Amino acid sequence: MSAHEVADIFTDIVGRARALDPANARKWFDDLTVVHFDGGSIEIGCPDESNVRYLDERCRSSFTRAAQQITGHLVTVDFVVGAAERSDETEQPEWGGPALHPDYTFENFVVGPSNRLAHASCVAVGQSLGQTYNPLFLYGSAGLGKTHLLHAVCHEVHRRVPGSVIQLLSCEDFVNRFIRAIEQGNITGFHSQFRTVDALVIDDIQFLREREQSQEEFFHTFNALYNGGKQIILSADSPPNEIPSIEARLISRFNWGLVARIDPPSYETRIAIVQKKAHLRGLEIGDEIAEYIARQVQANIRELEGALTTIYALATTLGEPVDLQLAQTALEGQIKLATKHISITDIIDVVTRHFDVRLADLQSKRRSQSITVPRQICMYLARNLTRHSLEEIGGHLGGRDHTTVMHACGKIAEAQQSDPNMQALLRELTKRVTQGQQVA
Ligand code: ADP
Ligand code: MG
Repeated sequence: MSAHEVADIFTDIVGRARALDPANARKWFDDLTVVHFDGGSIEIGCPDESNVRYLDERCRSSFTRAAQQITGHLVTVDFVVGAAERSDETEQPEWGGPALHPDYTFENFVVGPSNRLAHASCVAVGQSLGQTYNPLFLYGSAGLGKTHLLHAVCHEVHRRVPGSVIQLLSCEDFVNRFIRAIEQGNITGFHSQFRTVDALVIDDIQFLREREQSQEEFFHTFNALYNGGKQIILSADSPPNEIPSIEARLISRFNWGLVARIDPPSYETRIAIVQKKAHLRGLEIGDEIAEYIARQVQANIRELEGALTTIYALATTLGEPVDLQLAQTALEGQIKLATKHISITDIIDVVTRHFDVRLADLQSKRRSQSITVPRQICMYLARNLTRHSLEEIGGHLGGRDHTTVMHACGKIAEAQQSDPNMQALLRELTKRVTQGQQVA
């Protein structure tokens, strides 16, 4: 095969892979190259290590299928750092923790009134670790960009000071590694891993609740780093004092530096985000469609992206261009929270009917599984689908206080992440709550 032929086939493969999995397709796929290609295997060269990880984790199956469809036979796909880039691979510092998401940079982050402070403080911290806001504590509801900003700080630090040592990890990871260190009798190793870094970045710190021993350990880690002038960055789904069951001495430390809140984005910011995400995927998107999506999805940016994906997936499936009507068809049946006013009563109705329990049971002190789960689901849905405060939600469900509601929401959110059945159940209940509204 000539180089030309290989290049043509490769372009087709990438195009097919994009079409097979539009949600994960990225504009930088244009920069992929063929490092090696024979009948049975293809080695795809990527700009850098983070792209390799991204493709490995998310796109292996779409590329494999694409290669098989285009060539007509079985092809093994491998992703490597492209030959031209290989030389500076050695300069990359050793990176502890999970892969940095290549999309989660400051460049790809849209700044608006809802996240301006959080963004500015992250930029400042990224420019001089330990010098400005320490600790930096970001909080906001799910899907508003906390993880994105944490990764962006890490990207920035690596770009500026390639040798710096940053630990970025989820709170669960921190807890699990701590537990493993205890089991293996290697606490010293654990200490040196976390107390010798330039920055410790922990995502979703609310998972420390009810982990007394981990809190104790984290407390000492925090002090060691703080006293050494090292940077600490944390994120959570609520402000320090609202995280239930966290020791007071930790809460007070979380408040020592800067606490920055992220709010749901405004309409204008949502439009800009949709456009940014479309651009990132190499999609052309008209203003009308971007505005339509921004009107439909208000609370959660992850869902904004989901809507974009749904629309373009339908367009690919039908082989039609994206216009307003197609966008509407694609999002029909999807949750249209934007236009709906949902009350806690709507939620309680749906949940009690589904579980065949009575409101009085949910409001009672009973703690059997058959009652606590529906009660917690009510709280979770009310938190996500209404604008009621934690206190108000607790009030509807037997006068429970806000920490109980927070705790319930955390429990269900965790279950949703780990249990596909819970995920399906929540989706179904949400649909019923929102559709009930459409009828009314
Ligand atoms: P969180 O950690 O707060 O739950 P994430 O950081 O995971 O939220 O963000 C969810 C998605 O929304 C990610 O794909 C992220 O890139 C995107 N996102 C959030 N805020 C912005 C923003 N301001 N600009 C661009 N994308 C954003
Ligand atoms: Mg997150």
